[in-house]
Amino acid sequence: MAYNVQTPLKSAAKSLPELEQRVRDDLACLCYPPANWVVPTASEERVHDVVVIGGGMCGLVASFALIGAGIGNIRIFDRNQPGLEGPWLTYARMETLRSPKQLTGPAFGVASLTFRAWYVAQFGNDIWATLDKIPRPMWMEYLCWYRKVLDLPVENDVEIKMIQPEGELMRLMLAGDGAREKSVLARKVVMATGRDGMGHPSIPGFIDGLPQKYWAHSSHNIDFAALRGKRVVVVGVGASAVDNAAEALEAGAAEVRHLIRRKEMPCINKLMGIGSFGFTAAFPQLGDARRWQIMNYSLRTQTPAPRGSTLRVSRHPNAYFHFDAAVEKAQLDGDEIVIETSQGKAVRADFLILGTGFGVDPLARRELDGYADKILLWQDRFTPPAGQDNADLGKFPYLANDFTFLEREPGQAPWLANIHSFNSGAAASLGKVSGDIPGISEGAAWLAREIAAKLYTENFDQYWQRLLDYDTPELRGDEWTPSPLPADTETSARKQA
Ligand SMILES: Cc1cc2nc3c(=O)[nH]c(=O)nc-3n(C[C@H](O)[C@H](O)[C@H](O)COP(=O)(O)OP(=O)(O)OC[C@H]3O[C@@H](n4cnc5c(N)ncnc54)[C@H](O)[C@@H]3O)c2cc1C
Repeated sequence: MAYNVQTPLKSAAKSLPELEQRVRDDLACLCYPPANWVVPTASEERVHDVVVIGGGMCGLVASFALIGAGIGNIRIFDRNQPGLEGPWLTYARMETLRSPKQLTGPAFGVASLTFRAWYVAQFGNDIWATLDKIPRPMWMEYLCWYRKVLDLPVENDVEIKMIQPEGELMRLMLAGDGAREKSVLARKVVMATGRDGMGHPSIPGFIDGLPQKYWAHSSHNIDFAALRGKRVVVVGVGASAVDNAAEALEAGAAEVRHLIRRKEMPCINKLMGIGSFGFTAAFPQLGDARRWQIMNYSLRTQTPAPRGSTLRVSRHPNAYFHFDAAVEKAQLDGDEIVIETSQGKAVRADFLILGTGFGVDPLARRELDGYADKILLWQDRFTPPAGQDNADLGKFPYLANDFTFLEREPGQAPWLANIHSFNSGAAASLGKVSGDIPGISEGAAWLAREIAAKLYTENFDQYWQRLLDYDTPELRGDEWTPSPLPADTETSARKQA
């Protein structure tokens, strides 16, 4: 029987408390959480089996998966305040998510944890049927509920400044109002640090020398009200560029001009179109050449901005899309920015917004200071064939199958095998399972499995001893009576033959 996304849920919970009870019942049926099986590490200071950095969507589902795998001695830290994890209420400026509403995202196979169950419990099936896309702030509300109903112990206002090796362990240096300690020890670290969590916002060189008050990256905190009556240039035409243009227009900007390097608008969302469980499962098993081929193609063809976001801009008569207009230079002329383009014509503006996205570059991560240059990158490992050069892709870390970093030179930084890069930097090696909504539960399940296997094999001797020591009888000895063989059975049978 095929179920449609609009097929009404016949026994849907009628309120959030009712749904929360259903979640608890489901977890009870799934025996969640199982007992913690990990042998404690002997040490004067508490050693956490796993520390998860980031309480955004990936950090939450990774933690749920780890606890569900019987790894209970974990801590989860996020530098933001509760409810402000990730981009959703900070720098994301779209009206709705791009993702289709029915994606199961972080639900991890538990139907009562889906966005749909949460939405229908509050608004009912009929409103669900009319919902087109998920309003952006509502997605954050859902993630907050997910964290609450699963009782995930995220510690907010705690920033991990550095991750340093200490013997077999990792020491994480903490800062922020929420920090209860100066540092903590962990066996494994999960960097669920987000879209820019293995790199940085991309800031093109042409901005050098332009004072900061004249420009911002789309991920910065922008005072849109101050752009009222101003001429704004937005560099790029991807989703963030378009969302920022829309915000500026709605705040009353005099004009907004997109300066776009491409000759044409990218219109097809390639990877979204071909997404499937097969792709998710196969990607990490493809050889380097095929993984590079796919990622390079995806980065080159570019993900278009969603239709609704683009219309949100173009319904303003003072919005302009200038194609084949790469920015070559941006400088001040008095209080005006003069932006020279590849067309030989300059555009004058009062404020410039970079919708240039994020780059992956482990060297930019302060958490890895002192050894980031020892991480193996794709550019160290793979030489692309002619026509597939891509310097940006070359900077992605070349990860092991368990999301950990590999060493550029074996023996130089063996502790890298304790740091799991569960963020968008993993895409080139392992596919889209540690960032976007569609593949996130598969990624979390995979991560938890790999960490569990590692924690176990590293302490194999202790688990072997547990096996030897285990002496709780399943049978007590009163369940059977031993009997002697009947006399002459064999001989009488032979005689008859
Ligand atoms: C504007 C925007 C719109 C998007 N829209 C969609 C969409 O519609 N559909 C989709 O599938 N994907 C979308 N994505 C991609 C992806 O789903 C999001 O980036 C999502 O937030 C990823 O979740 P995450 O947990 O990996 O990262 P985040 O949600 O960014 O969470 C990472 C967390 O780590 C914390 N952190 C980082 N470093 C540290 C540190 N050193 N110490 C302590 N805390 C730290 C941060 O505070 C942050 O809260 C969008 C991304 C952006 C940027």
